[in-house]
Amino acid sequence: MKRYSVFALAREAARHHTGWERAWRSPLPKSDYEVVIVGAGGHGLATAYYLARNHGIRNIAVLEKGWLGGGNTGRNTTIIRSNYLQDESAAIYEKARGLYETLSQDLNYNIMFSPRGVMMLCQTEHELRAMKRTAHANRLAGIETEMVSPRRVKEIVKIIETGGPRYPVLGGLWQPRGGTARHDAVAWGYARAASDLGVDIIQQCEVTGVDRDGGAVTGVQTSRGAIGCKKLCVVVAGSSGVLAEMAGFRLPVESVALQALVSEPIKPCMDCVVMANTVHGYMSQSDKGEMVIGGGADGFNNYTQRGSFQHLEETVRALIETFPMISRLKMLRHWGGIVDMTGDRSPIISKTPVEGMFINCGWGTGGFKAIPGSGWATAEMVADGAPRALAAPFSLDRFTEGRMIDESVAAAVAH
Ligand SMILES: Cc1cc2nc3c(=O)[nH]c(=O)nc-3n(C[C@H](O)[C@H](O)[C@H](O)COP(=O)(O)OP(=O)(O)OC[C@H]3O[C@@H](n4cnc5c(N)ncnc54)[C@H](O)[C@@H]3O)c2cc1C
Repeated sequence: MKRYSVFALAREAARHHTGWERAWRSPLPKSDYEVVIVGAGGHGLATAYYLARNHGIRNIAVLEKGWLGGGNTGRNTTIIRSNYLQDESAAIYEKARGLYETLSQDLNYNIMFSPRGVMMLCQTEHELRAMKRTAHANRLAGIETEMVSPRRVKEIVKIIETGGPRYPVLGGLWQPRGGTARHDAVAWGYARAASDLGVDIIQQCEVTGVDRDGGAVTGVQTSRGAIGCKKLCVVVAGSSGVLAEMAGFRLPVESVALQALVSEPIKPCMDCVVMANTVHGYMSQSDKGEMVIGGGADGFNNYTQRGSFQHLEETVRALIETFPMISRLKMLRHWGGIVDMTGDRSPIISKTPVEGMFINCGWGTGGFKAIPGSGWATAEMVADGAPRALAAPFSLDRFTEGRMIDESVAAAVAH
């Protein structure tokens, strides 16, 4: 793979961009692999990359039913933060945030990581208490966050209205090294680097069945024929329940649509991410100038990848009180993704009842920020056959043993 650099740009500019090579290969599927990963979203691709780079396993296929990054990875609002309440969550999200800091250099691909700061507003007394608790927990976990006053919130977020009649801003939990990254670039960067290490990324290849011999996995049936494997890792977010059913077990996961929208582009007016959990909305400004606005998840299970008027209305109506200026903006587009929700709002990184089959899912409304850490931890689990410290708390056993990692209070809007 030719490296991207300022010299490569200059060279290609001089020869009318005729020398760029394809970012990743598009190979035909082989009949057998050591590891098959289902799902070419950020988590699946990162798992493949770290398996190849950190563990030297290169006989890997990533099977994707659509196009890579076309699932939630390409549909999210790109918030990156690690200010979670529980130690187990703080560890994996902070690992991910740390990896994001140097991911562009590691992958030789500009993922546009922008640590512009994340402000989580406190708009009720209860929320203020809960955020203070999170700030203390973050300090103990070595994560840099601080509680800030309403006046400081206003200094950081110039366009905010802090004295709103229904939801005044009582303070904020500020994570200065949180921020955003370009979601497509994260998928493309991992795909390019993994492909360069020998990983076969096979798009338009839907997994339709899981082959087993006794209790162990032997391969998968796909829309492009049978593919054998020693190890299978399923990383399909909202489709996790469907894949688990193919393998003969059930997951404690519900699939629902989560929606987002962007406004028309405007001049720069907000240089951080703001989350308003009480009104259930959050906002940042993209590099193109669009206000990126996200809301809540549907209250019923479904597999819809579209927006709906009801959510638009709810989210925007709620945010307008805190950001009156957005009332005059036009909406450019809206969309939805299928998110995989667990009861404790924490992910599952685990072995499964089928020998040789692993699963990574349950990231729900907030897994973009976790991609590097999740890929790192899942690769360890697949390589060793069992999770190491980072992933071990997130096993499926926790639902039968009652070891919940409850993040639903800490992250009411869990993006
Ligand atoms: C509107 C919205 C806003 C969000 N905002 C944020 C945010 O601000 N910050 C944050 O951290 N997270 C956010 N998230 C959550 C985040 O997007 C997800 O947690 C994360 O992208 C999940 O990545 P993934 O790789 O697990 O799944 P995906 O990116 O969905 O990838 C799974 C892939 O599996 C493929 N697949 C499914 N079934 C099969 C099959 N049978 N065979 C082959 N392939 C299959 C799919 O086509 C898909 O490409 C948001 C999500 C949405 C929808």
